[in-house]
Amino acid sequence: MTTYEEFIQQNEDRDGVRLTWNVWPSSRIEASRLVVPLACLYQPLKERPDLPPIQYEPVLCTRSNCRAILNPLCQVDYRAKLWVCNFCFQRNPFPPQYAAISEQHQPAELIPGFSTIEYTITRAPTMPPVFIFLVDTCMDEDELDALKDSLQMSLP
Ligand SMILES: [Zn+2]
Repeated sequence: MTTYEEFIQQNEDRDGVRLTWNVWPSSRIEASRLVVPLACLYQPLKERPDLPPIQYEPVLCTRSNCRAILNPLCQVDYRAKLWVCNFCFQRNPFPPQYAAISEQHQPAELIPGFSTIEYTITRAPTMPPVFIFLVDTCMDEDELDALKDSLQMSLP
């Protein structure tokens, strides 16, 4: 990897995520001044054979209006057993099952290569699954018409 552009491309290829910006706005004022809105294209169900699903619940930020998930970009204080949310800067204690973590013994969600994690949650869901069907309509009119026709044929 020789350029920043290649670095970004490599991360997009790995995670199936493309953001409109490479840096998060640091304030509401800065966010309001963005010429292009902050947005994300996400490739759901991207195959990641190098990353097996994690068989436990994600660790969530304790701030009720945040609930972000522990990730490799969070700051961690291994001695105090705390992590700092990288979205709202809330200091969060690790749950009891993380008592043995250290810089040498990290959970998968803190390992930099695990930038995308698929959790397999064993408890019963509290709500029905949500399916999002997105179609990128930036295509030729003929292709779009063919897509519309195929969707009408498949609908009951
Ligand atoms: Zn947070």
